[in-house]
Amino acid sequence: MQLKFMGTAASEGIPNPFCNCAVCEEARRTGGKNVRTRASAVVDNVLQLDLSPEWSEQLSREKTDARSLHTVLFTHTHPDHFNVGEFVSRCAGFGYNIDHPLYVFGNDCAIKGAFNALDGLGGDRFILKVIAPYQPFEHQGYTITATLANHAKMELCYNYLIEKDGRTLFYGLDSGYLPECTFEYLKKVHIDVAVLECTYADYREGDRTDNHLNFASLFGEVERLKAQGTLGEHSRVIASHVSHSGKRSHAELEEFLSPHGILTAYDGLTVTI
Ligand SMILES: [Zn+2]
Ligand SMILES: [Zn+2]
Ligand SMILES: [Zn+2]
Repeated sequence: MQLKFMGTAASEGIPNPFCNCAVCEEARRTGGKNVRTRASAVVDNVLQLDLSPEWSEQLSREKTDARSLHTVLFTHTHPDHFNVGEFVSRCAGFGYNIDHPLYVFGNDCAIKGAFNALDGLGGDRFILKVIAPYQPFEHQGYTITATLANHAKMELCYNYLIEKDGRTLFYGLDSGYLPECTFEYLKKVHIDVAVLECTYADYREGDRTDNHLNFASLFGEVERLKAQGTLGEHSRVIASHVSHSGKRSHAELEEFLSPHGILTAYDGLTVTI
């Protein structure tokens, strides 16, 4: 599998248009890896993980398009992940020469939100399905499993295990410190690449943070996944969903995370799994 990071920021983006902190100012001045659009990613150019507010611009930046996409997986419906209004551009009269349906999977909030956004225009161009956590299913050559995150108060948020050809990706953004039932489920899983969040950096304290991870809870989570065999010697951990509140440029974050064996994602990074 090939995973491409389309966006790697937390909800404000970097730079945050309302902010003049050192991280935002440096991003404006230097550009490059210091500029982060809101988090989304794509597997093999066919399987999209979340739709960020900048999704259309992300595709242009990568000199690609969404015509080959057959599936969208939503983690949850916070606005930085759920730019569902884009679906209308794929409806009859808005998008042309579209010859396959787009499957959309997520929790009940996401699927109801997608249904409402389509406003009856979807026709046979969309297949919307609510999925339950910890229930693997086969889809277009991939095995997909939603696992529960520890993130929002009003919604059961998902992370995703995506398997193909004996390789496994865990897309674990907006996870908080994973709930016990997810650690338990992951005991029987070997992850080759884990995308985990580093939203708070050292902005919040505590080694069991709810909602989002900081450095301490990220490192603790990685250690626990290693100890229970979910992450092995050759597994890679990649940190994404970066907030300016962490007060670090890309290079500074990389310098801090690399001694812990964690790679730092940036917009446009592509990894082979
Ligand atoms: Zn988010
Ligand atoms: Zn800022
Ligand atoms: Zn969120």
